[in-house]
Parts: sequence; structure tokens; C-alpha cells
Amino acid sequence: MSAFKIGPPNPSSGGFDKDRHNDHLLAFVQPRAEQQPSFSDSTKMQTVARSGFVVCVDCGTASADVLWFTSQIVPRLLDTRQDVVVGRLGQGLARAGRSAPWLLDEPTDADLVEVGRFLEKHATRLKSGVIVVEAPEEGDDDDIDDQPDDDEPF
Ligand SMILES: [Zn+2]
Repeated sequence: MSAFKIGPPNPSSGGFDKDRHNDHLLAFVQPRAEQQPSFSDSTKMQTVARSGFVVCVDCGTASADVLWFTSQIVPRLLDTRQDVVVGRLGQGLARAGRSAPWLLDEPTDADLVEVGRFLEKHATRLKSGVIVVEAPEEGDDDDIDDQPDDDEPF
């Protein structure tokens, strides 16, 4: 055991409030694998996905530099050759004593067209290959409660 409390940043401060985007159509721009200390055991590392941007087409917003820890979602973002991974955020069934897991549902063809349109309007690929999305940031309103909840980390 380390004398220091070492761990990942608060996932809810990563600029993406999943509750707010439940059942919304999301586009993950250039997700890549990254190693972060595990929530359950900070001496172990876990693979997480960092997205340059996460676009919510339903809200018309883009959040920059978002880390995803959700065990069900991370592999779906990383095991792909896409520049932009599209899916609809949702929740599975809660098991006894645990909160419902966050999932990423398959997009429909119409969803893919919609995301394509949004990106044509708001996204640019820089010479470096990095894709930048210009859209309003997710709400900066501080009136959402900051109470820590006992949700499992995502
Ligand atoms: Zn949304």
C-alpha cells in the first residue's frame, strides 16, 4: 500500500455527464487506449478510452478530452478502426446492489447519417490528422448538484 492516495480524476469532472445524455446519440472522436489506475485497486492499471471529443448529436454539444472508464463501453470504442465511433448511450439492467451498467447501443443507419451531417458542419481534420469539433461545450451550469453519489465509476 502506498502512503499516498493515488487514483484517477473524478470521472464526473471529465466534462461528460452520462445521466444527462442517457439514450442520446453519441460520436466518440478518435478514441484511444490509455492506462489509468483501477478504481477498485489503485495499484493495478486498467485500460480506459480517451476521446479527443465526444459529440452528443441530440444536444448539439461537444465535450473535449473525455475519459471513459466503463468496462462495457471501453472495448467497443477501442476495438475498431473508425475515426469516429457512433453509438447510443443506454443503461442495462441493474444487478442486486449495483447500479445499472452503462452501455453503448448499435447505431441505426439513420443515426450514422445524422452524425455524418453533424461532423460535416462542425468537424475539421487538421494536417496532423487530429479531428477537431467546434460545437457548444456541454452546459457549464453549476446548478447540478455536486453531491458524490454511490454509483459505480464508469
Ligand atoms: Zn445529449
